[in-house]
Amino acid sequence: MTNKGHNYMESNSLKVYIRTYGCQMNEYDSEIMAGLLENSGYHLTDNPAEAGVILLNTCYVREKVKHKIYSRLGELKKLKEEKPELILGLCGCLVQKEPEEVLRRAPYLDFILGTSNFYQLPEVLEDISGNHNRESQSGDKYARVVRVEEDRAIPEGMPKLRKRRFSAFVSIMRGCNNFCSYCNVPYVRGREVSRPCKDILREIEELAQKGYKEVTLLGQNVNSYGKESREKVDFADLLGFVDQIEGLRRIRFTTSHPKDLSDKLLEKMAELDKVCEHLHLPVQSGSNKILSRMKRGYTREHYQNLVDKLRQAIPEIALTTDIIVGFPGEEEKDFQDTLELVETVGFDGAFTFCYSPLKGTEAAQLEERIPEETSGQRLRRLIELQQKILLRKNEFLVGKEVEIMVEKISKKSSDELQGRTRTNKMVVFEGRKELIGNIISVKIVASGCWALRGEVSSC
Ligand code: SAH
Ligand code: SF4
Repeated sequence: MTNKGHNYMESNSLKVYIRTYGCQMNEYDSEIMAGLLENSGYHLTDNPAEAGVILLNTCYVREKVKHKIYSRLGELKKLKEEKPELILGLCGCLVQKEPEEVLRRAPYLDFILGTSNFYQLPEVLEDISGNHNRESQSGDKYARVVRVEEDRAIPEGMPKLRKRRFSAFVSIMRGCNNFCSYCNVPYVRGREVSRPCKDILREIEELAQKGYKEVTLLGQNVNSYGKESREKVDFADLLGFVDQIEGLRRIRFTTSHPKDLSDKLLEKMAELDKVCEHLHLPVQSGSNKILSRMKRGYTREHYQNLVDKLRQAIPEIALTTDIIVGFPGEEEKDFQDTLELVETVGFDGAFTFCYSPLKGTEAAQLEERIPEETSGQRLRRLIELQQKILLRKNEFLVGKEVEIMVEKISKKSSDELQGRTRTNKMVVFEGRKELIGNIISVKIVASGCWALRGEVSSC
């Protein structure tokens, strides 16, 4: 693609600002869009005020996120009024879920792209440039571009502009077949489609050659990788292949569904050197009644049994989770079950949410809604308990030597660096900038809830 279509605009029209909401999968898609744009002659900017194109890559996992996005759009509308040549677009899960509503609430958008259309961004911008200043039949100033299709295959081999230099996200599959009763994902991301193993391996080999030391394999349910494909490669096999890639030092993956974590995978995790000792295993609730209403497909006992097996196979493993409180029908005793499970398992981290009813999901039809005040109180109690547990666990690390990968200069102080342990804990320490990208050993000298403090012991 050439830049001819943009000659009519000021030079900064070639600058694109992308804001990403939500999960790592969205970040990965934004990296693809950024790569495609760079290849087409655009430049990325961190400053929306100097951009000629503003794109929001949206999420719709809870109502709160949706409100945030609409309120940001309201602000951008004002910017567009001041700067009519500004091209404003929306892509991602919110668009896929409610395209008509998006266009009704934000008729000033120049384009919207669904979750299977995002990679068409450069050609869409070209189209808009061509239509610029032309009256559309509907009387809009520009013809708006709307591309929202379902389950369209995403091409392989697209360029990516990665945000990080040593650690990369690699999508291994898209979509989800689980239909947990509260969740939007199957509706906005479609059914499960696994990427061919050879394409995944090629992407990771290229990353390793460029000096990347860590990859995080992404999927809504990585444990079901390959199930729908004709290739006879499951997730455990894939991990085995990735582990052999030269230069790569660490492998992470997310998300694992407790109902699909096989013994074969567990053994592989224990056996493969590069697979880090951390597992994100969302439990959602500790009550069997609520788990069944959530349609999660496992019981509390199954989850606890998995935890026991994981700890037996990998004693140092850190476990993190997601928990929803205030799900319809959650009585105090169900919530107590959740608190008790959290205490027994002793998670190293938990993303905690108040249940948010989402139109079109099964749970939105359920009665016995929990008042917001009750959910809010439960959330606070849960967070308080989890913080106590985490403090206790992190204190236990003081005095120990740990391996970290140095990621960047610390957010809090420019004299300090930060890195992550194999168990995914953040460590802040004093050190030279040249250490960034290296895997080093540090001694933990102090602990806290969000980060540990370390001292460099050897390189
Ligand atoms: N695929 C992942 C989760 C993706 S969504 C999995 O199966 O675990 C990330 C998290 O958002 C979920 O684990 C859940 O805890 C939370 N979530 C999803 N839908 C929600 C809703 N309607 N209300 C509150 N939290 C929700
Ligand atoms: Fe949503 Fe359940 Fe699929 Fe996770 S497994 S994405 S929570 S439907």
